[in-house]
Formats: sequence, structure tokens, C-alpha cells
Amino acid sequence: MSQLGANLVKIDWAREQVPRFEKNFYVQSAVVKGRSEGEVEAFRRKWAITVDGPKPIPRPIEKFQEANFPSYVLKEILGAGFTKPTPIQSQGWPMALSGRDLVGIAETGSGKTLAYILPAIVHINAQPLLRPGEGPIVLLLAPTRELAGQIKEECDKFGSSSKLKNVCLYGGAPRQKQINALRGGVEICIATPGRLIDLVESGYTNLKRITYLVMDEADRMLDMGFEPQIRKIVDQIRPDRQTLMWSATWPKEVQNLAHDYLKDYLQVNVGSLSLSASHNVRQLFEVCTNYEKRPKLLRILGTPHQAHHTKVLVFTSTKRMADEVNDYLQQSGYRSLAIHGDKGQNERDWTMDQFKKGSCAVLVATDVAARGLGEFGASDYVINYDFPNNIEDYVHRIGRTGRAGAHGTAYTFFTDASARLARQLIAVLDEARQDVPREIRDMANHERGGGTVNHGGGAGGARAGG
Ligand code: AMP
Repeated sequence: MSQLGANLVKIDWAREQVPRFEKNFYVQSAVVKGRSEGEVEAFRRKWAITVDGPKPIPRPIEKFQEANFPSYVLKEILGAGFTKPTPIQSQGWPMALSGRDLVGIAETGSGKTLAYILPAIVHINAQPLLRPGEGPIVLLLAPTRELAGQIKEECDKFGSSSKLKNVCLYGGAPRQKQINALRGGVEICIATPGRLIDLVESGYTNLKRITYLVMDEADRMLDMGFEPQIRKIVDQIRPDRQTLMWSATWPKEVQNLAHDYLKDYLQVNVGSLSLSASHNVRQLFEVCTNYEKRPKLLRILGTPHQAHHTKVLVFTSTKRMADEVNDYLQQSGYRSLAIHGDKGQNERDWTMDQFKKGSCAVLVATDVAARGLGEFGASDYVINYDFPNNIEDYVHRIGRTGRAGAHGTAYTFFTDASARLARQLIAVLDEARQDVPREIRDMANHERGGGTVNHGGGAGGARAGG
């Protein structure tokens, strides 16, 4: 596999002459335009839709007719017996039809496939017809053969009225049938990364005409180790394409991919970010003020002698706080060390080694530094001295305990300052069937009453200092 794609050279797009193409097809309907800001917000709130990104952010549509799809597309939707758009479609269609790059956080079952396929059909129908030898116009990347197959079914159903042809390329099946389909000319290519690279590299197709790219289940593709292949593929596609990325979760790795390959993108989230924390970790909370944190920390650690026999990771949100907490612990007699972005590589390596060997019992770390810990970072328990700036980091942190089937515990100090994340935290706790402290529920209700819900993981979301 490591050789796969070795012959695909990165294209210097600045030197390539590429024909112009159209990607904005959205005409806002008079009904949508006529709604007040309050009505638009109320609709988003009702369906737990949050949006982010450079303005203008298109308003959601509430009925199929409001999307201004061409009549042949509308006929297909109504023919399928659907009564109204799903939330991700309501907000995703106007965004995608506008030609904007888009990140959609939504799960299978949310209607996300049609959220990107119908705009893809409109896109293709506005492009010059395929000429013999030309590759597809739309590329839909998926992690597995199963998902690719489901996407194909929707393409078959909704693309047939405009006579669009598609092919589904995936590994573990003979290549010949796929090659034959490519030879016949297809507007839409649905593919898992490995087989696509194989066929592009062997010259059976090319990505020169792709102007609409979708990465579906991006988080899963990265989990499966497809990142190098994805990057190989996307580097073969003209950079002024429209790119849409879909993911059920929004971890840093997916954010990095979006940052590298999407431009001025809009983001839409529906519902919670559906993060799931390890079910082997007991998640305990201390709702307190900043002043109460130090004594509480010592109480959890036990005496320095008791702490000596454990491995504890303490997370802070800033480098300064990491140093302060570490100094305090050392002065109190604990074998503690700190790790963060201001420490040199040698010191970090040495610190990690001490923690791994057990010479240091307590490691105080920022999120960024902890990410570099790799497997060394496994610990008996985790203490969130400061709550992180986003819920993904919380899930990431507590995943440092309870590894490999063992049971772990995460203690979290939660102050008023993190109230905006209470609702997302509750979603994580509910999913993991853990008790939710009453104070945190109260904070969430209070925030809800206050109006806006800030999905901390949203585009441009705050990052922890590292
Ligand atoms: P997906 O989340 O894309 O996997 O879609 C889940 C299922 O919902 C698929 O079978 C779709 O055909 C169906 N579906 C998509 N959009 C709608 C809609 N607006 N109303 C009802 N069902 C839909």
C-alpha cells in the first residue's frame, strides 16, 4: 500500500491553464427572503441547527420548493414521497447550491447524502458535456464499500432523470467492471481512496474535470488511516473546485483537513456533535470556583505517598496554568512535572520518559502537548483542572484513561466560565450513560434560555493554548 500513488505527482496548479466554470446556482426565493431574522433563528433553534463561517451565510429553506431546484430535481424528490427537507438539507442545500465550500457535521440517517447529491446534480447539469476520454465532474469519496454502495443507490435514484451516469470504485472487487464503466464516461464517481488512486495511477481515469468534491464520513476515513491517500487525491484536483466535507464528529484531525483543503468554508452542525466518550471511563465532576481548585486537587490525589503509586494526567488550558499547578504540586511534595508548548523537544522527551517509567506520578499538560504524548499518555486517571475550550478536547482528554478495556476515572472541575459548553457536555454524558450533576443541567437550561448555542467545535472555534 505504501507505494500506492507514488507515481502521482503533485500538480502545480498555478502553472495550469484551466477553463472557468460556474458553481453558484442559488437563487433565494421570495418567501425565504421575506422571513425576519427572528424567524430564521427560531427555525434553526427548533431543529438544533448551528451555522458558522464567513458571511453571508444563506438562510435555511423550510420546504422543498424554496430551494429553487430545477423542476426535474424537484419532481424526483416529491416522487420519492418525502414530505419536507431534513434539517441538514434545509440549511445545507442553500449553502451548497451557492457554490460555497462546506463542512457538514451530521450522521448517517440525517439525510446528508441527498444534501450533497442534489446540488451535485445541479452542478453537473450546468457544466459542458463530457467529451470522450474525460474523467468525472463530481467525486464522492467514502471510507467503505458499504457507504459507497449506499451513495450509489441515491445517485441512481436521483440522477437518472437527467441521464447522469455514475460508477462506484472500491477495493476487494475485480477492477475490470469498474474500468469498463469509466471507459463509457461517467459524470459521478463514488470511490474509496485506495481503488481510486490505483485506477487513476494506471491511467483508467483522471481527475482533471472534477469541480465538485465531497469527502463523506471524513472522521472515519482518517480513523481508517486514509489521510495520505486523501491528500494524494485532492492534490490532483483543481483548487478552485467546490469542496464539501461531511463528518459525524469534529476532532482536530478533521479540522486540519478542512483547513488545508477547503476555502472560506461554511459550517453547519445539526444536533449535538455526537461525540462519544469511552464508556470505560467514570466521569466525575466538581462544580466549583477557581479558588476551590487547589484543595480539591490535593484531595483527589491523596497524600504525596499515595499519589506516588499512580499515574495521573492533569490538564490545564494554558501554559502558565500548567506551570503554576506544577509548582504548587512540587511544593506540596508531589513528584510532578509539566509539559507544554514552551518546553523544548529534549525536555519534553525526558518528561515523557519520566512519566512512562513512573518516576513522575503527576504530569500537568496542555491539550496541544498531550497530543504529542502518544501511547505514553495512558494514565490511571485524568483530572481536568480547567475545562477545555471545546468538547472534542474534553472527550480526547478523558480517553487518556480507561484504555485497552481497563476502567478509568476522569475528574473534572467545572466553573461558570464553561457554562456555554454545558449542553454539549450533557450530550456526551448522556450518551455514555453517566450521571449529570444538577448544577451543570441548570447551567445548560440557563444558557438555552439565553438564546445562542455556541458549538465550541465550530469553524474558528477557540483553541486551547499549548
Ligand atoms: P442518509 O443520512 O443520507 O444516509 O439518509 C437516510 C435515509 O433518509 C435515506 O434512505 C434517504 O433516502 C432518506 N431521506 C433523505 N432525505 C429525506 C427527506 N427529506 N425525507 C425523508 N427521508 C429522506
